[in-house]
Amino acid sequence: MNTHSRSRRIGSTHVTPKKSLGQNFLVDAELSRWITDQIQPDDAPVIVEIGPGLGALTEHLVGRPRELILIEKDTRLASSLLERFSADGAISVRNEDASDMDLRSLYRYGDVRVVGNLPYSMGGEILKRVLTAPTPVTCAVFMLQKEVCNRLCARQEDDAYGGLSLLVQKDWDVDLLMIVPPEVFNPKPKVDSAIVRFTPRKPGTLPVFDRAVFDRLVKVGFSQRRKQMKNLMPEPPGGWAALVEHLGVPVSVRAEELTLAKWVDLTRWYEGRKEQDRGQGATELFDVVNEQNEVTGQKPRGEVHAEGLRHRAVHVFVVNKRRQVYLQKRSHLKDVHPLTWDSSASGHLDVGESYADCAVREVREELGIEVPATQKVADIPATERTGMEFVELHTAEHGGPMRYAPDEIECGEWFSPEQIDEWVSARPEDFATGFLECWKAWKSR
Ligand code: SAM
Repeated sequence: MNTHSRSRRIGSTHVTPKKSLGQNFLVDAELSRWITDQIQPDDAPVIVEIGPGLGALTEHLVGRPRELILIEKDTRLASSLLERFSADGAISVRNEDASDMDLRSLYRYGDVRVVGNLPYSMGGEILKRVLTAPTPVTCAVFMLQKEVCNRLCARQEDDAYGGLSLLVQKDWDVDLLMIVPPEVFNPKPKVDSAIVRFTPRKPGTLPVFDRAVFDRLVKVGFSQRRKQMKNLMPEPPGGWAALVEHLGVPVSVRAEELTLAKWVDLTRWYEGRKEQDRGQGATELFDVVNEQNEVTGQKPRGEVHAEGLRHRAVHVFVVNKRRQVYLQKRSHLKDVHPLTWDSSASGHLDVGESYADCAVREVREELGIEVPATQKVADIPATERTGMEFVELHTAEHGGPMRYAPDEIECGEWFSPEQIDEWVSARPEDFATGFLECWKAWKSR
């Protein structure tokens, strides 16, 4: 008999599990409780559960976080969950496809934990949605097929090591928590499952590299994993022999023989990034200005910041056709406000440079886009909030791809003004103070 043909009771109705939606329901209450404990839900600002199904995990989450969001694709199950939890104001049910969900409204919680016994059919797509930078997710605990979990956690010396291990581990620490046999499910799947936990990799544990270049190279390298990389990879700057000498590996090396650190090193070589990460130079010269924003002399960056001298900077809001604003997360290498969210691009004026020229240059250098000109939106006076910068806020229209500078920017994302408003009022500490002044000026223009 087909194990998926038997119906299950939800509320007063019976439903037949859908194989296409990976509906293997957990029937072990102790295990369900243990899984939910791994996300540490007590008093968490928000927990998102993906694929709650008949509520095996949900039951052990209710009443623990301050808010619980349930994302269920099956309309029958979503309606039943809605009915069951409608009286609880802390729980919301979304009848959505989690591989397609919009996570941007979740940044305002500051700490977003995700848990789910994922459908085998869509596990990969859902992982990609939740884990691809930028994401507000701060911890995720998922049950998936054991074989996929082994690949997610694998180190270079393991058989399961491959492209998936690298694509995920460049941003996440992955821990295998438990192997789970088919018997704890109804209907029983054909293979073992496992539980894995993802926590964000600490910034600075790898040197900076361009994620898009890394992903492309890893995919090429593992496209035929037994083949020597020299016959697969694009020609690196200086040739293959120079690259392998730099990496300290044989010329015949295969993709599976390189550790994550070596893959990062290889990416940096393709980018032409040969020097160590240095952060920002203290010796760069700025124009220093008086209270009327008139130039009175030049001083090195370190001195300007240390002495709180007035100087000039531009901020640019890049806006797309849907009126969304692109925000960047500042690199951990920044000397001020590292890892906070900021305007699309911003920077100090070079000695003698105009605000307008600086705006076009910053957009090119930070985001890799050419705009012929930007439009001035507002003047913002020099205060402690702007870091004693007289700021001109500019805007530019752009909707196409960007290639941001990894030593300046961790990641970036388009946000609607409403999403930014909610986030700014819930968690102003997530933003550079200069951006907050710009956002105020933008709103009152
Ligand atoms: N959490 C329940 C449990 O542990 O018994 C159900 C787990 S079952 C393996 C997977 C659940 O994910 C099902 O309820 C299924 O309807 C739901 N699902 C499948 N695809 C989904 C998707 N793309 N987005 C959200 N939920 C999905």
